[in-house]
Amino acid sequence: MSGISTGAVRGSVVEAVGLSKTYQHNSVLNDLDLVVESSSFVVLLGPSGSGKTTLLRCIAGTERLTGGELRIDSQVVANSRVHMPPDRRKLSMVFQDYALWPHMTAAANVAFALRRLPVNSGERRRRAVHMLDRVGIAELSEQYPTRLSGGQQQRVALARALVADTPLLLCDEPLSNLDAHLREQVRVEIATLSRDSGATVIYITHDQEEAFALADQLAVIDGGRILQLAPPEEVYWRPADPFVAHFTGLSGRLVGQVLGPAGGGRFKVRTSTAELVATAIRPPEPQSSVSLLLRPDSLSICSSHQVDQVLFGVVRDVSFRAGAYDHVVEMAEGQRLVGVRSTTRNSRGANVAISVDPSGCLAFPLEAELGAELRLKSASAPVPPALEASASGPVAIGPSLEAPL
Ligand code: ADP
Ligand code: MG
Repeated sequence: MSGISTGAVRGSVVEAVGLSKTYQHNSVLNDLDLVVESSSFVVLLGPSGSGKTTLLRCIAGTERLTGGELRIDSQVVANSRVHMPPDRRKLSMVFQDYALWPHMTAAANVAFALRRLPVNSGERRRRAVHMLDRVGIAELSEQYPTRLSGGQQQRVALARALVADTPLLLCDEPLSNLDAHLREQVRVEIATLSRDSGATVIYITHDQEEAFALADQLAVIDGGRILQLAPPEEVYWRPADPFVAHFTGLSGRLVGQVLGPAGGGRFKVRTSTAELVATAIRPPEPQSSVSLLLRPDSLSICSSHQVDQVLFGVVRDVSFRAGAYDHVVEMAEGQRLVGVRSTTRNSRGANVAISVDPSGCLAFPLEAELGAELRLKSASAPVPPALEASASGPVAIGPSLEAPL
C-alpha cells in the first residue's frame, strides 16, 4: 500500500443479508438486504429516524446485529455468532461533527490514522501533509481544530479518512453542519477524492439533492428497510414505491380513476378536472383509484390553447430562483402544485395552464400512496435531540479513525 492515494485500492464489497437491529422493543432495522459493489458510491437516503446511522454502525462494527449476516469481501464480519471488531474491518469514517482530536494539529490528526503502518513518524507526517494538500488546506497543517472553520475541520476529517487508503469509507451526513456555501465545495471534494482512491463509499443523508448529486447507486431507506436500490435516474423516473416518489421531490399530487391503457406502458387517468396520461410502474387495475404524483420537471406553464395533458389553476406565489421562476399554482379543488418552473414571471392571481409530461406523472394505487404519505409525515416529526445526539455521536473506531469521545 502506498499510503498516498493512487486509485489502486480495490474497494470492498459489502453484503447485508436479512439484517435486523432491535433496541429494547424498538426494531430499527427490519430484515434489511443490501449489496454494495466494489468501488461504487452508494448513498443511503431516508428520513430522520429511518435507521441510516444504525445501519452504518452495524457495518462499522460499533453496533452488534440482532439478526442476519454482514459480509465484507465475502468474509462474514457479523452474524449471530461472529462480531469482528471495528479496527479489523478495514474502513474509515467521516462524521457530521468532524470528531477531530482537539489537542492535535491538523497534520497530527491525519497522521494518527497511519500510526499502525510500519513507517517512521517523518513519513507519516509527509503523507498527512500531502493528503491535506489534496483537500486544499496544506497551509493549515500546524493549526489546531479550534482555530479552523467547520469546512476546514471537515476537510481534515476527510483527509484522515482517506490517507490510509482503506477500501471502505463510511460517511454519516458529513455536510449537515456546514454552511450552505461550503456544502457544495466539500461535497465535490468527497465525490472526487473518494472516487480517485478507488474505495467503496457508503454515504448517508436525508437531503435528496445531495443524494442525487453524489450517488452511483441510491438506496432509499424507510422503517429500517431498503425500498429501492438503483441508479439515481431510475429512482427518479421509476420510483419503486410511492414513499420513494414522495421523498425524492414532488410538485404535488392528484387523485384520479384509471380509464385504460394509453400504449407504451402508460395509462389514461381521469381526474376531477382533466384527462391525463400517466406512467405506472406496475399496471393499475382498470377503473381503480390512483394517485398521480407529479415530478416538478414534468410541469411547465403553457398556452391555454393546448388541450391535451393540461391542468388549469391560479398563481398563488412566485419566486425567482436560479435564473427562472418557481410558481405555486392552486387548482380548482384547492390542490396545490409547487415549484412549477417558467422562464417568464406569472404574477400572483394570474390564471395559468400547466402541461404535464407523462414521464413524470406517476400513478400509484391510491391506498398505498396514502399510506406512504402518512409514513412520511410521521417520519418527518422531529427526533428528540438527546436521541439524535446519541445515535450520531462520535465513536472510537478503526485503524484510520479513533475519534475523541
Ligand atoms: P437515522 O440515522 O436514519 O436518523 P438512526 O439509525 O439514528 O436513524 O435511528 C433510528 C431509530 O433508532 C431512532 O429513531 C431511535 O428510535 C432508535 N435508536 C438509535 N440509536 C439508539 C440507541 N442507541 N438506543 C435506543 N434507540 C436507538
Ligand atoms: Mg443519523
